[in-house]
Amino acid sequence: MSGSHAIARFVRKVLLDQLKPCFLLLDEDFRLLRVVGNAEHYGLGLLHRGEDCRGTMPFLYGLGPTESIHLPLVEMTSGRAADVLLSQVIGRPGLLLTDASRERASRQVVQQQANEIRLLHKQQQKLVAELTAANDALQRRHQETSEISRMKSGFIARLSHELRTPLTGILGHAGLLHDAKRDTNSIDENVRLIEANATHLVSLVDNVLDQASLEAGQLALHPVPTRLSGLCREMEATFTSLAKTKGIEFRLHRRGSLPEWVEVDGTRLRQIVINLVSNGIKYTDRGFVALITAWADGRLQVSVSDTGPGIDRRARERIFLPFHREGGASEKRGAGLGLAISAQLVELMGGSLRVDDRPGGGSVFGFTVPAPACEVTVGGGGGEGGGGKRILMVDDSTDILILYSRLLAKSGFVVDTAADEPEAWQKFEQQRPIAVLVDLYLKEWEGTGLIQRLRARGFSGGVVAWSASSLREDKQRAMSAGADMYLVKPVEPAALCASLNEIILRRTPQLVAGPE
Ligand code: ADP
Repeated sequence: MSGSHAIARFVRKVLLDQLKPCFLLLDEDFRLLRVVGNAEHYGLGLLHRGEDCRGTMPFLYGLGPTESIHLPLVEMTSGRAADVLLSQVIGRPGLLLTDASRERASRQVVQQQANEIRLLHKQQQKLVAELTAANDALQRRHQETSEISRMKSGFIARLSHELRTPLTGILGHAGLLHDAKRDTNSIDENVRLIEANATHLVSLVDNVLDQASLEAGQLALHPVPTRLSGLCREMEATFTSLAKTKGIEFRLHRRGSLPEWVEVDGTRLRQIVINLVSNGIKYTDRGFVALITAWADGRLQVSVSDTGPGIDRRARERIFLPFHREGGASEKRGAGLGLAISAQLVELMGGSLRVDDRPGGGSVFGFTVPAPACEVTVGGGGGEGGGGKRILMVDDSTDILILYSRLLAKSGFVVDTAADEPEAWQKFEQQRPIAVLVDLYLKEWEGTGLIQRLRARGFSGGVVAWSASSLREDKQRAMSAGADMYLVKPVEPAALCASLNEIILRRTPQLVAGPE
């Protein structure tokens, strides 16, 4: 055999191995006449002469016997891919199949690569979108932080003015009091002004401390049975005359009936309402300020509307930011904290503080918070009268002891006082009080220690702990030492009496006589 023959045979063998050709000669109805080549490779091994080939090769349906066509990458019944050429051979349809598995595999690879590229592109787009969003958020945060820092600087500057003005007032009027000697009218007026300035100072300091505790996530709520009618009466008593001095009217409306007692943090609820009504009165020069309450399904609705200047739509978001004051407010007193604190307190209580236009002019601030109705039966629970109940008050501040023992005695409590632990034990043993009021921060010893020792000795009466700190951890320390309630100083005398009565009722209901 010559060399060229050998090469030709080798090439033929390679081609046959790779292409696996199979030729089928058909009649005009696509019935099989002859097969040449590897029919099994394409799943056609069982075809017999005279059989209609369209059964195993359905792609032939719709083709005419005289047609010439090239069909690439046809899926055969064997699962292989074939290149199919239909053409006329000696006046009959002839079908040439060659193996296209490699081409299909490489196309699949290309397709897969294209899919992967598309996926990568999508991921890249997603990442870019995330990065852009993170960048936007960062910029917004940066703007907010700069805004807050700018407002804080303004606040510090205002704070110095806000602190100095009432302090100057207090000192000035105290001096005048010295000189007033026997002129009772002048004494009353000076005392009233000292009181007003001191109240303003206390609320300023409270606000600053509250905002700091809220920022640190440390402010905790203390829900207790609270008398709604008492709260409304208190607001009426506080604001009717204040509104009158400005030549406006304070109105109180109840929509539907309210339960007498609800479980809510009364101190904080009072703080929010006082802040909203005070703002209403502060910013309204003509007309009225109305406090409207309603209750349904365990939720208390409160709204405060006024006929004041109203609040610009664009300003509505800003007024809830700490330290923010609107331009027009500059001539009025204020630190720009009241609404921020109120909004955060309402949120802590499970609601949200909204502001709207009042139809007819002015603004309406409103919120709804959970306040389930509760029963307080014997003795009026949180009532304000002491009814001769004996309590022991322990505090290392003589001022506090004198002030609050007088206030409590005025409400009908019998008050013993102690300035240190030995004195506390002595009075406790001698007088057997029904309840004890303990300051948490005492100079040389811990109020919590005294509470623990009282409980260890088997004291089962009421223990109210209090201090000037509104931090959650201080309340926790007091409660885990054995206190029944924790209050933050300064406490309204009426609220202190109501809290003491509430605890006494809870601890020793058998000792509390008849309704208040
Ligand atoms: P402050 O009263 O100390 O400025 P607030 O946080 O209570 O601080 O109120 C923020 C701002 O919202 C006020 O400076 C004032 O511009 C505006 N504002 C609050 N309440 C009212 C109201 N009832 N009517 C008009 N403006 C109000």
